[in-house]
Amino acid sequence: MEVVKIRPRGYCHGVVEAIRALRLAAAEHQGEPVTMLGYLVHNEHVTREFADVGVRLIDAPSRLEALEEVTEGTVVLTAHGVSPEVKRRAIAKGLNVVDATCSDVLRTHDLVQRLVADDYTVVYIGRAGHPEPEGVLGEAPGRIHLVQSLEDVDALEPGEGKLAVTTQTTLSIWDTKSIIDRLRARFPHVEVHNEICNATQERQQAAVEAARDCDMVIVVGSSRSSNSQRMVEVVEQLAHRPAHLVDTVSDLRPEWFLGCKRVGVTSGASTPTGLTREVIAAVEQMEAPTAARAGASG
Ligand code: SF4
Repeated sequence: MEVVKIRPRGYCHGVVEAIRALRLAAAEHQGEPVTMLGYLVHNEHVTREFADVGVRLIDAPSRLEALEEVTEGTVVLTAHGVSPEVKRRAIAKGLNVVDATCSDVLRTHDLVQRLVADDYTVVYIGRAGHPEPEGVLGEAPGRIHLVQSLEDVDALEPGEGKLAVTTQTTLSIWDTKSIIDRLRARFPHVEVHNEICNATQERQQAAVEAARDCDMVIVVGSSRSSNSQRMVEVVEQLAHRPAHLVDTVSDLRPEWFLGCKRVGVTSGASTPTGLTREVIAAVEQMEAPTAARAGASG
């Protein structure tokens, strides 16, 4: 099977820096408790690597709840960022805090702080339950509204005064567009601050362009990873090609390849290179399955 290796793909600068920060913390505090507050990046394989060197992971519905389980040692804040309340609490508990928040996420926190200080009400387009919105919303409780859909925009009552909209870094420009358009229609004075990071935009654009010359696209990434899921969506919605998310090579299904001659492979910003290489090698060795063969093995 012909494979189009889509570039750029894989680790972004935020993930590289977060992994480096955690490796350093684990080495400097060997033999002492080192805790990752939630998944450092949304990839199980990266998490396992750190479990092997004794780093403990605490995952809870919120970062504040996770923090309550940390009583000593070093706590590493993840690339997704945390609310000011989490940082205050960690310091108050006497923990050694290593902040691995991505610089692009910190920029959104700074933006929200500036807007709120300047009397804006802020609308934030993001996914409920994801740690990044949790951290950003914590910058201005009561002054920032999370929206996920057009219905959320229709239900908004932000009051009089200045209004701004910003976004989670790992969404797609295409799925935020319809929400921003609806906001502009309802609130013509709204100021738009697109905070989707360059790494996410470049990977999405490359995937959409390459997918147009492919029969199907495989995205290597965890189902917990927002940017990997968005990659599948943009390929399906904008390039009109089927796309499948796989965590490892063992998730590949022969029936996906029926009638395929050219398959694009890309990966999320938190996917280790080795996993993507394995998927590329497996797809390259694959022969296009016939309907009978795909059914027999699937
Ligand atoms: S996807 Fe973007 S915001 Fe998230 S860690 Fe990578 S560079 Fe930072």
